Amino acid sequence: MEQTKNLGIYIHIPFCIRKCAYCDFLSFASEENTRKGYIQSLIAEIRQWEDVERWHITSIFIGGGTPSVLKKEETAGILEAVYNKFQVDDDAEITTEANPGTLTKDKLYAYREQGINRLSLGLQSVHDQELKLLGRIHTYEDFLKGFHMAREAGFSNINVDLMSALPGQTVDSWRESLTKILRLKAEHVSAYSLIIEEGTLFYEKYAEDARLRDLGEDCRILPTEEDERSMYYETRRLTGEYGLEQYEISNYAKPGYECRHNQAYWLRQDYLGFGLGASSLIDNVRFCNTADLKLYSRGIFKKEEREVLSVQEQMEETMFLGLRMKDGVSMEAFEKVFHTPFSAVYGKTVLDLKNEGLVQTEDERLFLTEKGFDLSNYTLAQFLQ
Ligand code: SF4
Repeated sequence: MEQTKNLGIYIHIPFCIRKCAYCDFLSFASEENTRKGYIQSLIAEIRQWEDVERWHITSIFIGGGTPSVLKKEETAGILEAVYNKFQVDDDAEITTEANPGTLTKDKLYAYREQGINRLSLGLQSVHDQELKLLGRIHTYEDFLKGFHMAREAGFSNINVDLMSALPGQTVDSWRESLTKILRLKAEHVSAYSLIIEEGTLFYEKYAEDARLRDLGEDCRILPTEEDERSMYYETRRLTGEYGLEQYEISNYAKPGYECRHNQAYWLRQDYLGFGLGASSLIDNVRFCNTADLKLYSRGIFKKEEREVLSVQEQMEETMFLGLRMKDGVSMEAFEKVFHTPFSAVYGKTVLDLKNEGLVQTEDERLFLTEKGFDLSNYTLAQFLQ
């Protein structure tokens, strides 16, 4: 029998209770009927997918939006469609994102029964005034309740999302958020810096401040660049103290608890996205679903245009995604995939970056140094030809 290939599945649930002030994800508040119609379309999209035999599913990631706004039966229906259609590995990592304000004991037990074995909780901060400013619907107390209920329901692999560089946040308040979560012994922490995105409420309020900060000038409400950097160093130090390793620029895990779904993405393995606006990468062709809810709910899922990635684009992605990870990129694997000596493509770039102390090579692997991680935007951009 022909060997099947690894495939990750992403499922997008675009609904939230209300829009957070900083969020530019494809997500919005919704009525129950809209949700019902959407789930039907989503299940139809999964059932219609034809290219099935050559894959086995190593991970499923239900993201959003807020997947936990769905009723337990709705989540069950979606997963059932996937299980019926695809060959899902027994040990597949199956994650759902959840907002602490939407969790119940019943839902968490149901998730476990449905095969979900990893929970990703969007907390962002342990300070209620920061949560309020962000427009989150939950308090820290809500999160704690949800976290302990998840443990009781049998979740032994929990990620907590935290956000640094918030308006008015100090290095001390960030340290407190991080420490409290690490004391809870979460297996995984994602710690991202706030980005002021256009089209959000925060953009209206803080765009000017962000501009000043980018120019290296004094900003009034956002933490300075120096404080932002201190928060990053504190994250690295504290996670290390509590036994979590930084395995990607913004992700920290206990050994063995790295998010396999995201790792596959950074390694450019094929993935298939279902749901509104979801994108897919199959055999170096990228295609995307419509972001128009009306079209999607009428069963018009895929956009017409498909992007066939050139060899150069594939190489660039291999580098700037692969180098996000602590282990970096295997130059040997690169040569096998592209049938080209690594040095012929990136020899000069690597030499220059080594001279700047930003990358390092060891055992045929190229990876970022600590300084390279600190200056990752600049360093990764050098691999775009
Ligand atoms: S809960 Fe998440 S997806 Fe929904 S609005 Fe807030 S940040 Fe965006």
